[in-house]
Parts: sequence; structure tokens; C-alpha cells
Amino acid sequence: MTGAPPLTIDGRPVAAQRTFDVVDPALDQVTGQAPDCTPDQLEQAVTAAARAQREWRADEDARRKALLAFADAITAASDELTATLSRETGKPLPVAGAEPGICATWLRYYAGMGIPRELLQDDASARIELAHRPLGVVAAITPWNFPLGLAMWKIAPALLAGNTVVLKPSPFTPLSSLLLGEIGRSVLPPGVLNVVTGGDRLGADLVAHPVPRKVTFTGSVAGGKSVAVSAAADLKRVTLELGGNDAAILLPDADLATAVPVLVGTAFFNTGQACALPKRIFAPAQTYDAVVEAFGAAARAVTVGPPSDASAQLGPLSTRPQYERVAGLAADAVRRGARVVAGGHPVDGPGFFFEPTILADLGDDAPVVAEEQFGPVLPILRYGTVDEAVERANDTTFGLCGSAWGADEERAAAVAERLQCGTTFVNTHAELPPTVPFGGAKWSGVGQENGVAGLLAFTEPQVVHRKRTGALA
Ligand code: NAD
Repeated sequence: MTGAPPLTIDGRPVAAQRTFDVVDPALDQVTGQAPDCTPDQLEQAVTAAARAQREWRADEDARRKALLAFADAITAASDELTATLSRETGKPLPVAGAEPGICATWLRYYAGMGIPRELLQDDASARIELAHRPLGVVAAITPWNFPLGLAMWKIAPALLAGNTVVLKPSPFTPLSSLLLGEIGRSVLPPGVLNVVTGGDRLGADLVAHPVPRKVTFTGSVAGGKSVAVSAAADLKRVTLELGGNDAAILLPDADLATAVPVLVGTAFFNTGQACALPKRIFAPAQTYDAVVEAFGAAARAVTVGPPSDASAQLGPLSTRPQYERVAGLAADAVRRGARVVAGGHPVDGPGFFFEPTILADLGDDAPVVAEEQFGPVLPILRYGTVDEAVERANDTTFGLCGSAWGADEERAAAVAERLQCGTTFVNTHAELPPTVPFGGAKWSGVGQENGVAGLLAFTEPQVVHRKRTGALA
């Protein structure tokens, strides 16, 4: 057990005045402490961010260089970031190790992007352009499933656009973000990136604070709604990336030998704890039994274990509440008559491990189908016609992603485009490169991250209208 690492405020390490425990989910043991940021410290962080922004916004070239230096520093510290992340999330090392890489990729991508400036009119009467100005201080609030990657989806475009940032990670996974703040201190001007840690209350206080002009939030629908209400009182701009309950529709001509292993690998990626994963599989009645059998076989082949076990593909659930929720949803499904094709139980021993689980023969009203399970428990649902599958897939308040799988690509694409979601895939799912805007329909979110849209979300449009002198007469 270690002492709490410091907060990052105004380019300096700021020691904890009070702390909270961080648990290693693979062991169910306290692995460290994190600072519980006080109201005074939060005040210092937003004040420092506001002060730093005046200079930071002025020099775009300096910002690009700083983003590239940050990418290099993260790459150099990749092993330490990976170990810290793996300890607080339980992720297998290759899964944790991807996140520093994502951070560097996103920083380099945005460092190479021009801030758009559009010429709307240029003639004898006027020259009119549309420019994009930074918003000011950005409050960035992140969940526990991809603490570093999702933080950088926000930090990189926000900083390039000329904003400064106060980052508030999940209380379940604060240590990797504190380390990110420490790395940032070595390459970014003071106050440009501040990292404060604490509970949900700290997030709410940050959103309600008058200084931040933009809130970018990734987390639950309930959290997002509460952020939207609070931000509305001050007309702060918001981007909300919330939950998902993605449908994957297997069409009758889908090649099961190809599709099923990919779907199982994707659905159970990060132990099923990602917003944009297949969470409901729709299979046609005519191939239902073969689909269920293929999913069962693929799931039974998935290995589960702690990060110290190099052969483990899946780690534990990352938090005790999530572990209890997933176990509860699986037990409820069994009480409702689900057929357990693979798994179905917690794994014996310490830690929040749950067997990769495939459930068949459930109705759409079972909570494991109707709600976001966010764990390695996947229901396979039987459908009669494709129209019925599309209607049932859309019968949800969620709308993050969806997919259709079939040998006839055009036909599968036509089905995919009927899904009411922010991203629809054909014969794949959850591929999220930095260049492509990502966001949710319905309750899955407001606004987009990544791509040019992700940069513009951190800007205020400004029309620059120059009247031509000759046109005054
Ligand atoms: P959560 O909403 O409980 O917490 C997310 C963050 O918000 C944490 O830092 C938390 O402290 C903070 N928070 C909570 N209530 C707040 C409030 N009222 N005001 C301000 N901040 C508040 O979510 P979680 O359990 O950490 O994360 C899991 C959820 O995140 C899942 O629903 C998942 O689908 C979603 N998620 C969405 C995406 C996406 O891009 N759409 C990506 C990853 C995770």
C-alpha cells in the first residue's frame, strides 16, 4: 500500500489533505490512496486553469509542440502507466497497455489537425469567415472503464483548440489519471492540465462552478442527465457520452464461423465493460440453435484471470458494485428461465471475476436484455423476420452503436442503417479510430468526440465579417 500521489494544480504537485481508498479488483484489496480534493483545492485548480488559458490560447504553434511533447512523455512512461492502470482496473496487461498508446495517438492526431476557418464570402462588398475560438476552461469528467483513453479523447482536442482543462476521473480509478497529471507537469505550461480526484460530489461541484465554460462527460445516463441540468443553469456547453445497449443483428446469410468469434471477442472486450460493445445479439430462428452453440463454444474458450496471469484474456469486473450488478443480472435471468449456454457464475476465489456467460431463450423484458449489463454476460435473442429484429433493436432509450452481420454486404448495410444509433457497423463492431466522430443517439449522448467534430466541440464559432471600404458608398 502506498501513500496518496499528489493532485496536479497549476503545474505543481499538491499533497492530499484527506484521502480515499483505491481497490485492486483482481484481489479485492486496497491497493493505494488517492487525494479527496477539498473545495479550496478545486478553487485553486479552476483559477489556475483560467489564468493559464489567457496565454495558452494565444499561440497555436506552441500548443501543437506541447501536445507532441506530451505524447512523447506518455510513451516514455508507458510501462508505469500500464502497471498503475492494470492495478486499479484489473485489466490484463495487453488491454491496459493499449491505453497509453491511445493517449499518444490522439495527441499526435490532434497536434496535426488545423483549426478550421471557413471562407463564406469574399467579394467586392465583404469578406466573411467562420472562425472557431476556444471556450475557456473545460471540465473533463471520466468513468472507470478506460480512464486514460477516454480522458485523452477530451484533453487532446480541448487543448489544441486553446482551452485549458480540469480533469476529474472516477473515484474507482484515480491513480492512472494522477500519474497522467504528473507526466503533464513535465511538458505542459502550469495550469494547462489540472487533475483533481474525489467522488461524484467533486464532479458535481466542478460542473456547477462558474469558471468552466464547457463540460465534457463520459459516464452513466443518470450522471449525464444530472450534468445537463446543472450546466443548463449557466448555459455551459456540454458533450455527453453515456451508456449503450448495442444490438448486433445476425442475418440469415451470416457466416457464423467468421462472425461469432469476432462478436464474442468484441462483446467481452475489457470484460464487457465498454459503452460501444454488442450487448444484445439477435439471431434468426432458422439458425438460432447453431448460433447459440457457436457462441457457447467461443465463450467457453475465453480464459479469465488476474493481470499476473499472462494467459488470461479477461480480467475481473473493475468495481465491486459492477460485479454485484452483473452477478445479479445473471441470477435474475436464470430465475426467468434463461438457458445458460456458457458460464453463469462468479469465479471462485478473491477478486471480482465472473465467468464469460452466454444466455439463450430470454425475452426482451429481462433486465439483462433491456438494461446495459456492462459485463461478460451476453444474451442471444431469437427473431422471426428482419423487420422484427430491427424494431426490437430500436425499442430502447439507448442509441450508441449497432451492427448487422451478413454475407451480402449491401443487404446488411441496408439493415444497419435502420438502426437508431450514432454509429452503425457492418460485419464489425466497436472500431473507433481517432479520425471518426463518435457519439450517441437518444439517451446515449449529446454531441460527438473524435475527428474534426470532436475538435469543434471545444470551440465557439465566431463570424468575422469585414465590410469592404469600397462597398460603403
Ligand atoms: P458514472 O456516471 O457513475 O461516473 C462517471 C464519472 O462522473 C465519475 O468520474 C463520477 O465521479 C462522475 N459523476 C457522477 N455523478 C456526477 C454528477 N452528478 N456530476 C458530475 N460528475 C458526476 O459512470 P461510471 O459508472 O463511472 O461509468 C460507467 C458508465 O459510463 C456506463 O454507463 C458506460 O456505458 C458509460 N460509458 C460511456 C462511454 C461513451 O463514450 N458513450 C464510454 C465509456 C463508458
